[in-house]
Order: sequence, then C-alpha cells, then structure tokens
Amino acid sequence: MRTTADAVVIGGGIQGLSCLYHLAAKGIKNISLVELDLLGSGSSGRSAAMLVLSMGRAETIELSFVAWKEYMAFAEMFGESTHFKQIGYLTVATRAAEQHLRGEIAVQSKMNVPIEILTPRQVKEIVPSVNIDDVVLGSICRTDGVIDPHAVMHAYARGAKQLGAEINERVQATGIVLENGRVVGVETTSGKISTPLVVNATGARAKEVGAWVGLNLPITNYKRHIFITDEFKAIPQSTPFVMDLEAEWYFRKEGENVLMGMGREESTLFEPQFEPEFQEKVIERAAHRAPILLNAKIIRGWAGLRALTPDDLPVLGYAPNVGGFVNCCGWGGHGVMHAPAGGILTAEIIADGRATSMDVTPFRYERFEKM
Ligand SMILES: Cc1cc2nc3c(=O)[nH]c(=O)nc-3n(C[C@H](O)[C@H](O)[C@H](O)COP(=O)(O)OP(=O)(O)OC[C@H]3O[C@@H](n4cnc5c(N)ncnc54)[C@H](O)[C@@H]3O)c2cc1C
Repeated sequence: MRTTADAVVIGGGIQGLSCLYHLAAKGIKNISLVELDLLGSGSSGRSAAMLVLSMGRAETIELSFVAWKEYMAFAEMFGESTHFKQIGYLTVATRAAEQHLRGEIAVQSKMNVPIEILTPRQVKEIVPSVNIDDVVLGSICRTDGVIDPHAVMHAYARGAKQLGAEINERVQATGIVLENGRVVGVETTSGKISTPLVVNATGARAKEVGAWVGLNLPITNYKRHIFITDEFKAIPQSTPFVMDLEAEWYFRKEGENVLMGMGREESTLFEPQFEPEFQEKVIERAAHRAPILLNAKIIRGWAGLRALTPDDLPVLGYAPNVGGFVNCCGWGGHGVMHAPAGGILTAEIIADGRATSMDVTPFRYERFEKM
C-alpha cells in the first residue's frame, strides 16, 4: 500500500469508485482508495439498481441528468456495459399519496423529464396485475430503467487503476491526522497514508468518519429489505418497475424472477441484519397491490442501508473549518443512479476548484448549520 498519496478516497462503494476514477481522469494519479471489506460490499451491492430521471425534486433530477449523460456513454468510455434495460418506472398513488405524486409530476414536467400522467385504467392496461381499486393517479417515465451496479463499479475500478490509482480492499480507515486544521494523513489498519486530501465516501459510516474531523453530519441510516421470488412468468418481461408511493413498496422483473422491496426502519448497525420475517410485511402489501404475487415463492432476500440526510439531498464538497476534507455521502436511495454525478462533481470541486456540471450549493454541509 502506498504511504503517500495526493488524495485518499475512503469507501469502495459506487460513489467512492466514481470519485476515484474521476479524480484520476482529472490528472490526480497518485490516489489511493481504502475499503474496509470488499468493493461494493456496502449499500451499492444491495440496491434495486434503478436509474431514473423521474426523481421527485429539481436538485435530484439535475443530478440524474448529469449521471445519465455518463451512463449512456459508458460503453464508449469504459469498454464495459452498464447492462441498462429500459423497463420504465410506473408510480401509483392512493388518495393519501396523490398530492405527493402531483407535486413530483409538476417538477418533472417543468424539467422536461418525459413523464406521462396515467389514469387508474391506463395503469391497469400497462400492468394488468396491479389492483387499482384505491388508485387515484399514476405516472410513468418510459425511459427509466435498471442497470448493473457491479458492472459499473468494476469499470470505475479498472479505469482508475489504468490511470494510476491504487485500490486497497480489507483496509479500514481508522482516523484522520490533522495539523493546524488541515488533513495531513489517514490512519488505516495497514498503516498511515500521508495525504493532504481525503474524500469521505463511506455511505452508512459517513457520520462516524465526519466526526473524526469535528463534523456533525446529520445522516440517519434506514434499512430496506429486498426479496426475490422464484421464476414467475405471470408477471411478463414487459412489466415496468412499479412503485406504490404510499407504502413505499415496489416490484420489478429480475430475470425470470420478481424483485420486491420495502422498508424504512432506522438502523444503528452498520451491518444491516436480514430479517426473513420481514417478508410477511412485503407479502401483505403484495396481497393488496398485486395479489398475483401471492402465487410466487420467495427464495432469497437481503437488507441494505440507505444513508439519508434530513432534506434527502447528498453532502458534497469541502467541509468548513478543516482543510482537505471532502464529503461525497448522504446519497440515500439514489446513490447508484447518481454515482457518475457524485464522482464528476467531486473531481470538479477538487481539481478545478469548483463544480461546473451543476450548481452544488444545495449539497453543501453548511446548509445543516441553518437547520
Ligand atoms: C434496498 C435498497 C435499494 C436501493 N435501490 C436503489 C436504486 O434502485 N437506485 C439507486 O440509485 N440507489 C438505490 N439505493 C441506494 C444506493 O444503494 C446507495 O445510495 C448507494 O449504494 C450509496 O453508495 P455509497 O458508495 O455512498 O455507499 P456504499 O455502497 O455503502 O459504500 C461505502 C463503502 O465505504 C466502506 N467504508 C465505510 N467506512 C469505512 C472505513 N472507515 N474505511 C474503509 N472503508 C469504509 C464500506 O464498507 C462501504 O463499502 C438502494 C439502497 C437500498 C438499501
């Protein structure tokens, strides 16, 4: 492992790897990444893998546009595919969620996201298995889809290494060395790396790492479960991702199988425990929203953490009052789709002195001081 680097990225999830690649691509070649376990072993390897433009806020839609550009040029850039499948993203709203969905559609339309409003009957035409008895409104973005986050991480890792970056798995950062209010090194389980610059891309542990330099990142980790059924042909391949907004329950096709996701339980553990009994809650919602799924057998599942800030926006850029500490964290439920944006913007901030791909003011740490 290098003992001196121009920058150290802590965290080998999709965001850390994107930062590593984009920093190297900007000419910062002597750069090192440390990952306490294996690459992608955190939330990035446990997501539902959706890539969508139909986000609910102007800021997150803009992040999607920045990310989308790179994802669509990915094979050309890296010689590796994201395995993007344009399945579409369909949302259903009950009366309780109607205003929420109307608000999202208004922002999406304003920002030229190709969103279509659906009547409950149109929802039923697109996905006959959906129960629309209590649905008052729907929407679909047909250009949204699913990617393979592992392929993306592999491409970033390979690309970064080719540019001279170093990746260290099973090496945990244990502290930041400061001198006169500036970063001068990172302590790790394999020794110290002297560096003037650190990127905090530690996902669910970002609050802990931020505290090493006196930050109080208001990040709370929420657990979400995903379950996979056995082969289930009654839901055809043409089915879009379906989100039940009120219950935050969703399903989509996963190969010949079906993937279902749900859950928002606060977690104090960094290693989220999978609870097989949680499937009862998921099935309960399936029984209501897509009863045909009761005929499918759940064969496996997992749990992952979504690291959320109070305003559900990420934290990007230099921390105040400490030189050389940069955050790229708090990605909540959209860190996979926004991975190119996280890396591009972080690299612009560090290498160019400011982000130019989009306005990052809403993502600054300082916003929490006003809350
Ligand atoms: C069930 C579920 C479904 C989701 N679905 C989607 C989706 O459809 N689309 C989407 O865009 N997003 C989705 N997300 C969110 C997405 O998974 C995350 O936002 C994203 O993976 C965050 O990436 P990250 O690199 O910031 O964090 P992580 O992938 O968690 O990476 C952080 C890494 O840092 C390492 N680390 C932490 N501390 C240290 C340390 N001290 N030293 C060294 N290494 C350290 C960890 O081991 C970890 O590997 C979902 C999340 C869940 C849980």
